[in-house]
Amino acid sequence: MKLFDLTGRVAIVTGGNGGIGLGMASGLLNAGASVVIAGRNKEKSAKAVALLGERARAIEVDVADEKSVRSLVDQTISAFGRVDILINNAGIAIRKQPEVYTLDEWRQVIDTNLTSAFLCSQSVYPHMVKVGGGKIINIGSILSIFGAPFAVPYGATKGGLVQMSRSFATAWAKDNIQINTILPGWIDTDLTETARVQIEGLNDRVLARTPAKRWGSPNDFAGIAVFLSSAASDFVTGTAIPIDGGYSISG
Ligand code: NDP
Repeated sequence: MKLFDLTGRVAIVTGGNGGIGLGMASGLLNAGASVVIAGRNKEKSAKAVALLGERARAIEVDVADEKSVRSLVDQTISAFGRVDILINNAGIAIRKQPEVYTLDEWRQVIDTNLTSAFLCSQSVYPHMVKVGGGKIINIGSILSIFGAPFAVPYGATKGGLVQMSRSFATAWAKDNIQINTILPGWIDTDLTETARVQIEGLNDRVLARTPAKRWGSPNDFAGIAVFLSSAASDFVTGTAIPIDGGYSISG
């Protein structure tokens, strides 16, 4: 098998109907995989599938709901017979000062960004074991590393994903399953469109600190998704890789 060839592989990308998820899904498709686009918004998912072509299929899911996640994996197995790759990408941000979050808002972020990845990983596990291994990619953030005044629950989930990935990686290495985390910097998507409005001076701050002198784009994630999904990364596990144009190494 060629190092980066994903022919015959089946991937689930949560939140694959837009932004970073869509960028990664298109990378996997280009490398030969079939891809399940797993999101809540049917219309957005249908548009993504139309764009991606015949090896893409939409399955509706709420990643914060255990039943819905189990059903996503069952439907994937019914449609494709296997699952080799899981990208836990779905995520939300509620940006506020720490003292004003409600418990409900805290739980919403934790359930959507962190518990979802636990549930999806647990649900695909027996199927990955059945085919002799697999790849799980979790989407953290540079807020897995840094703090921000508007990101108490978000940062908790993104830091948690890194540590959770490491524990999963140690547990499932025996099953030939590699689990890694990608840490995106500031990327132009629906999620950050609101951030540009909510965080004063954000655009200037991002450009000033990013050595690449630009925001990232969803397409910047196609290559890393293929690498971490392919045989090229078979000895890479438990890592957290910033994809941020140098933001996190800039003083
Ligand atoms: P988007 O808002 O474009 O994508 C988020 C995706 O998550 C949507 O496609 C959405 O699908 C899906 N989603 C949200 N909640 C649920 C849910 N309960 N069930 C199923 N799907 C859900 O933003 P990004 O592409 O920017 O974000 C993707 C990931 O990257 C997130 O985890 C985010 O935290 C992370 N990230 C983004 C950064 C950035 O600068 N953009 C920086 C660092 C990390 P639907 O609309 O169908 O619900």
